[in-house]
Amino acid sequence: MEDILIRCTSNDGSIRLFCCTTINIVEEARLIHNTYPVATAALGRMLTAGSMMGTMLKSEKDSITLQINGKGPIGSIIVVSDISGDVRGFIANPFVDLKPNDKGKFDVGGAVGTDGVFTVIKDLGLKEPYIGQVPIVNGEIGDDIASYFVSSEQTPTAVALGVRLTQNGTVNSAGGFIAQVMPNADEKTIDLLERNVLNIKSVTDVIAENGLKGLLDRVMNKIEYTVHEKKIIRYRCNCNRDRLEKALIALGEENIREIIEEQGQAELVCHFCNNKYQFNKEELEDILNKAIND
Ligand SMILES: [Zn+2]
Repeated sequence: MEDILIRCTSNDGSIRLFCCTTINIVEEARLIHNTYPVATAALGRMLTAGSMMGTMLKSEKDSITLQINGKGPIGSIIVVSDISGDVRGFIANPFVDLKPNDKGKFDVGGAVGTDGVFTVIKDLGLKEPYIGQVPIVNGEIGDDIASYFVSSEQTPTAVALGVRLTQNGTVNSAGGFIAQVMPNADEKTIDLLERNVLNIKSVTDVIAENGLKGLLDRVMNKIEYTVHEKKIIRYRCNCNRDRLEKALIALGEENIREIIEEQGQAELVCHFCNNKYQFNKEELEDILNKAIND
């Protein structure tokens, strides 16, 4: 079964809702990065949020990057998405092993840490990217993203993100929702939404039992809504040889010369998908010429 993202609004215009399943996306990320369980949960929550926030963009050329670093053992997590909702991610230390927290859940907050910031970078094709930053609330990611929407975009937002694993660490449920209150929203609808959100104890249980439609029905219980978009989302990297060649050129003449003299070749590994790109001596000399003429 594929991962699906749904975008809808309440019929009275008070709420817009994004919800998705990310079981395959998080499992693929786990396989690429070889993450331990708590790291799978942390990266998975970021990927889930990144996908939904990607689909909030306006143009196909735009992209969004979410970054969190709370000086915890995981280091930073970076995810990148675009309007398609396809997403890719990187985690600095995938081999973090922590005991469950006092609620018996993955201690994502402990793994991420709370001494730092959550950053959103939107490349909207303008001269400078938009950068929004908020202090980390608790490192659990859902609350940090809600805080970002309230402080940086002035939009009251409820966020729930979840990843559930089997005993041997594979992903068996993942997904979440972002529900936003629109300007001039109806108080009654807001009350209903708040109640519905509080009633959902675990998004991963709802998804496992009733699928994405089940989650949608729970968040929008007693609220009339219209679905505007329903699409398949994937883990997708857009690296290619050309991009990595540009990265090498950007190292500059001196550094490229050093690589040629000391190593005679170069192997670059994409941080998001682990694809390897080899450059032999002749290719590096070609790159050096491009750097000189840059
Ligand atoms: Zn890649």
